[in-house]
Amino acid sequence: MVEKSIYLDHHATTPTDSRVLAEMWPFFTEHFGNPSSVDHSYGTTAAAAVETARESIAELVDCRPQDVIVTSGATEANNLAIKGWAARHRYDCRVVTTPVEHKSVLDPAQRVRRLGARLQMLKIDAFGAVCLESLAEILTKDRGDSLKTLVSVIGGNNEIGTLNDLPAIAAMCQEHNAMLHVDATQLPAGLPVDSDSCPADLLSLSSHKIYGPPGVGVLILRKQHPRPKLVPLIEGGGQEQNLRSGTLPLPLIVGFGAACRIAIQERDTRRVHLQSLRDAMWASLQNSVSDLVLNGHPSRRLPGNLNFSVPGVDGDALLSQLTAIAVSSGSACTSGFAEPSHVLRSLGRSPELARASIRIGLGCQNRLDEIPQIVEHIAATVRRLRR
Ligand code: PMP
Repeated sequence: MVEKSIYLDHHATTPTDSRVLAEMWPFFTEHFGNPSSVDHSYGTTAAAAVETARESIAELVDCRPQDVIVTSGATEANNLAIKGWAARHRYDCRVVTTPVEHKSVLDPAQRVRRLGARLQMLKIDAFGAVCLESLAEILTKDRGDSLKTLVSVIGGNNEIGTLNDLPAIAAMCQEHNAMLHVDATQLPAGLPVDSDSCPADLLSLSSHKIYGPPGVGVLILRKQHPRPKLVPLIEGGGQEQNLRSGTLPLPLIVGFGAACRIAIQERDTRRVHLQSLRDAMWASLQNSVSDLVLNGHPSRRLPGNLNFSVPGVDGDALLSQLTAIAVSSGSACTSGFAEPSHVLRSLGRSPELARASIRIGLGCQNRLDEIPQIVEHIAATVRRLRR
């Protein structure tokens, strides 16, 4: 029997919480109606359950339930935000983003550029955070306020964990009349995403990063005046205020709502737990392995994230020999490709150092007593490869 490795890849996905599953189950078997079927009780029960879930999602992000647009995940939410917004402006607009975004932001940004929009890249600092001077410069120069502008930045980086200063970014966007979209996918696993901490006009989230089921996410249209106008990517039955047609995946939405309620209740304990495991692991790793290079900010980072490069080892060999732990190098969404992580390359890491990097994403179920075993496994592997 293959022994199970310790799961340390919670930025890629999280297990669905058993309490969430318990809430979902009746909506597969008993209350399985289509929420749009308003002519019978199956439909109205389903619609009521969707509304309850919508309220929980809205509570997590501090918006109104009607500001929640259900999608298939954060990839679709990011696509809808960027392509939908640029299409609405007939591509006579500009999108401002950073080189360390998730591909589901970078690729739509390139798409709208090919269709005529202007695309501008913000500078990032050595830790991968948005350089505020660069944002100020871009927002003031270059047709300044007259060109409709969408700024899209990641809340907490899924590879290196670095957090952006969202209140400062939002204040600058507001001053210059620019719309702010935040890919907040990784934040609610331990951090708040309310309107003070994450004052975005548009906001993307995904259920499977916060112990909810995969296959569902949301785009939040938080801004009221003026409300962001978007062209839908998917047309049909007119669900979700005509912005995202398709029969709503009822059990998934119910599960996402339950995961949000638990995320609100447990946020502080989760944050403290993840942060203490992470700090203990990093301290112990530095004692056991020489010359590790931390990627991302030392403190302004996602509580469960650790990302470091290991000089003097081959990246492929490193990853393939770390069999007792489930970790990734770079993002799971891009690691099918052989190229080193675009995020680490943007920080100025060499291709070798970018390849020889380990991303650890801790989760609620990881324990302090697992750390010595994890650290010894990494240290022994590095010793072997450095010989
Ligand atoms: N944005 C970020 C920051 C992510 O970490 C991910 C998941 N890797 C996504 C977007 C895409 O999310 P989903 O899997 O829900 O499409």
